[in-house]
Amino acid sequence: MSKLPMTATMSSTRPTQSSGIIVAIGAVTGPLRQDAPLDLWATLGWDAYAYEAVYNPARISRADAEAAVREQLAEFGAQVAAFLDEDEPLTASQRGVEWMLRWGCTPDCTADHTDRHTPDWHTSHRVETALRDIDASCSPEENAALPWLAAQVVVINDKARAYGRTTRVWIDYGATTGELSPAEARQALTELRAFTDRLEAVVEAAERSATADFSGDPEIARLDREATDHRVRTITEDAR
Ligand SMILES: [Zn+2]
Repeated sequence: MSKLPMTATMSSTRPTQSSGIIVAIGAVTGPLRQDAPLDLWATLGWDAYAYEAVYNPARISRADAEAAVREQLAEFGAQVAAFLDEDEPLTASQRGVEWMLRWGCTPDCTADHTDRHTPDWHTSHRVETALRDIDASCSPEENAALPWLAAQVVVINDKARAYGRTTRVWIDYGATTGELSPAEARQALTELRAFTDRLEAVVEAAERSATADFSGDPEIARLDREATDHRVRTITEDAR
């Protein structure tokens, strides 16, 4: 949320100090956008470090990730002084009791509430499918920006004494979000499990069908288009 693509922020946040910058780097459990091995951002409004990088350990080693970050920043004239280890986002319980009381966090909340872009609610680490969105009405680039499916626990407890505390499971399917109660999420999970068998049958039928697929003849296609154009012209002229 506070993270912006590096290309968008690089020019305005280009470091001026020659002593080098500190880059927070951490491994992520899920795949990165476009299944990239590494992603690097300029971090705004954070005193401790100016850049943040995440890498997918399944795709790239920590050493190679650090080397790639050094190289990318060197292109902008920035030298890395040190890497700050940040392998997983800290949970509220790891940040301590003081933090949890101050922000009203659940133990597994990974939201950084010191960031002004962080919403009031509390959220667990989001799990995602490696597969990006599959919306036929979107471009490949638009689909690559979103996972096909994602889920996280969200706890809303702002002014709890007045409005109470609510736990929800947010299930994203592409650009759409379902905000379910835990019972509804359990039902969705049961449905999803049952659906995989039916989906398997559909995929198998499609694989059998696809063995008979073939590309058309471009020459016959051209003649067909010409014939259609001719028919349209004839009908238009007759109508006059
Ligand atoms: Zn929290």
